[in-house]
Amino acid sequence: MLEVGRLAVHYGKAQIALHDVTLTVPDGAAVAVLGANGAGKSTLMRALSGALGHHRGTVDEGTITYDGRSLRGLDAAGIVAAGVVQVPEGRRIFTTLTVEENLRAGAVLVRDRVARTRRRDEVYELFPVLAERREQRAGLLSGGEQQMLAIGRALMSGPSLLLLDEPSLGLAPRIVGRIGEIVREINRQGTAVLLVEQNAAMALSVADTAYVFEVGRVRLSGPSAELRKSDEIRRLYLGGD
Ligand code: ATP
Repeated sequence: MLEVGRLAVHYGKAQIALHDVTLTVPDGAAVAVLGANGAGKSTLMRALSGALGHHRGTVDEGTITYDGRSLRGLDAAGIVAAGVVQVPEGRRIFTTLTVEENLRAGAVLVRDRVARTRRRDEVYELFPVLAERREQRAGLLSGGEQQMLAIGRALMSGPSLLLLDEPSLGLAPRIVGRIGEIVREINRQGTAVLLVEQNAAMALSVADTAYVFEVGRVRLSGPSAELRKSDEIRRLYLGGD
């Protein structure tokens, strides 16, 4: 279980990006974080994956624990080894490498060759289109396929919690729906998911529980089914009136 307690983060001199954020992702759960541009969603992801330092961000207060163990002192590789793996915003796949080479790059920390091969086969089963294109350069894939590859690469290290930062970004609605189905399937197979999205409709269809961030704070949280019915959420995030 991931537990974030009263987390506060700032950038540079006085830019406070998160205040007093408390949330949990129970084992095997699918949880969404919604919010507009600048709400602090990416900052949360960076804090969880050990990438804040690269952005001159600092955790001021609070706790981040996974299965009872603090992630706060760990570097990015240590966090992956603890089972928490991020699919970064903007995919960041290696465009000049092949699909297969990208997947292999996701498994550099996995020593066991048999496990590596098994996971690769599982990724190809989940994404048959990647199997068809395994020898192709990743830069030639469509946006949706590149997102699938980024997810597949993260799965190669066998996470128990997958962090997804705006997987729907820049994709056509039909492809967003497909990515949502895949994330649900990954969750159904037992991997917990924390999904950060501006696309509230997609996120609420995937997650059991959601948190709504507003300027660095948790504004609302609850079961997705309830949030979907809330007038405020419909008006602000689902395009209803
Ligand atoms: P987006 O959907 O645009 O990624 P977000 O919800 O992920 O938005 P964050 O990127 O976490 O929001 O930004 C939260 C706040 O922190 C914003 O006010 C933003 O300007 C600020 N911020 C983010 N990154 C940095 C940085 N590297 N240096 C200074 N301020 C930053």
